[in-house]
Amino acid sequence: MVNRAGVEEIVAKARAEGRKGLMEYEAKKALEAYGITTTKTSLTKTADEAVKKAKEFGYPVVMKISSPEITHKSDAGGVKVGLKSPEEVKKSFMEIVENAKKYDPKATVQGVIVQEYAATGREVIVGMIKDPTFGATLMFGLGGVFVEVLKDVSFRVTPLTRRDAEEMVKEIKGYKVLEGFRGEPPADVNAIIDAIMKISQLSADFEKDFSEMDVNPIFVYAAGKGLKAVDARIILT
Ligand code: ADP
Ligand code: MG
Repeated sequence: MVNRAGVEEIVAKARAEGRKGLMEYEAKKALEAYGITTTKTSLTKTADEAVKKAKEFGYPVVMKISSPEITHKSDAGGVKVGLKSPEEVKKSFMEIVENAKKYDPKATVQGVIVQEYAATGREVIVGMIKDPTFGATLMFGLGGVFVEVLKDVSFRVTPLTRRDAEEMVKEIKGYKVLEGFRGEPPADVNAIIDAIMKISQLSADFEKDFSEMDVNPIFVYAAGKGLKAVDARIILT
């Protein structure tokens, strides 16, 4: 069961605020509404609120800047991973906001998101772009240099069949990394195929609203253990 109305609400709120994109915590809610697992995530406005959330999620936590003007949060010194205590959370809240203001003095800062730390897995990314001829098109690849340097990616026009999704995953050169080698167990390829199908449905349902989507990275665990979307970005039309 998907919660389409929930995503419509998130989109309407962003538009009412005059924004051209969904923030990470909103994009993750949209993914969750379509059954894709993400990190527990919450927007906090003060350091004390951040400490409260960290306690609720359990340490270690990750904190990130939430600003519509800052799309690459790491570039702005806006991501801190593996914070282990209330003191670290308090200090990080201040530092993240300061870094953001230094990076872009005109940026509006909504607050800082606190989220659960996700165990490292094999990294994949799923993106959606609008092809001028074919419409919503999904992209799949492994994270980092595989995509940025080697351009080892696959594309399919939505709506996808399960077979399309499976081919997308298996046709990249880096598929070997997911099959596992040197004693590493195979990654949960079925979970990746499921996630691609769900992202296809989300893209189709919001074809008029979403101009671009970037779920990057997704941490994929061993077969049967699923995956977790760790960062997500959605640009509105
Ligand atoms: P950016 O906006 O710079 O892409 P990300 O949210 O992708 O920021 O965070 C940068 C990196 O930090 C990620 O690629 C990932 O390696 C790590 N990271 C982010 N969030 C988490 C998390 N919740 N748990 C573990 N690692 C994370
Ligand atoms: Mg990212």
